[in-house]
Amino acid sequence: MSKPKVGIFGLTGCAGDQLVILNCEDQLLDLVALIDIRDFLMASSDGYQDGALDIAMVEGAVLTMRDAERLRAIRKRSATLVALGTCAVWGGVAAMDRDRDRAKALAEVYGERGKEYDSYPAQALHEIVKVDYNITGCPIEKEHFLSAVAALLNGDPPLYPQYPVCTECRMRENNCLLIERREVCCGPITAAGCDARCPDLRIPCVGCRGPVADGNPASVLAMFEERGFDRQRIAARLRTFAPIGVAQ
Ligand code: SF4
Ligand code: SF4
Repeated sequence: MSKPKVGIFGLTGCAGDQLVILNCEDQLLDLVALIDIRDFLMASSDGYQDGALDIAMVEGAVLTMRDAERLRAIRKRSATLVALGTCAVWGGVAAMDRDRDRAKALAEVYGERGKEYDSYPAQALHEIVKVDYNITGCPIEKEHFLSAVAALLNGDPPLYPQYPVCTECRMRENNCLLIERREVCCGPITAAGCDARCPDLRIPCVGCRGPVADGNPASVLAMFEERGFDRQRIAARLRTFAPIGVAQ
């Protein structure tokens, strides 16, 4: 039986998720034994550029017409499309101020030449094409990538924790930064999967994995406000990685 054909692609992003894949050093030989990597520019310039793929994994957000065209072309040739990392899943840091006037921002940075740039407000992949599965994280966790590949090869959907970072934080018996140190910690509304990496180091969660599926930002906002946090500060923190709306 032929191996599934896989492509790994990057749109506008920092390439951190692709780097995580390359850092799976102990598993790379097993991976190439199981899958036929047809396109992975970060690892090899020998890409096929066309032809059908069983699985495409796409990192980065869509910020240019070129990104959007590439993404549509990838979608067209792929049976399954996986969004890789918070930028691809939610828009990420590039989408932080996406409601801001783009032409004005380009003019501020590039002056008159701003008009020449192919640049528009960051969009997540699902806003442009159908996405089959998401692997979130900034960057993704290596274990999540490997378990996703294993699940997809078995014909199963990849599974991830469906609870917030607070749950992992409590499992690690951390003292709560929000309650005990009165810090703006986004753990209550952020998807788990990082083993509460930041609160474990006494650093508040900034929500880099994006919102947890059944989170309730309104009630968390009320809780923050009850503790005397400034609404604008909370809003800025919440929208760092994903478009979590908080009226100001
Ligand atoms: S420190 Fe943050 S992540 Fe941990 S329990 Fe408190 S609010 Fe949740
Ligand atoms: S604790 Fe929060 S900010 Fe830190 S890695 Fe996890 S999700 Fe990201």
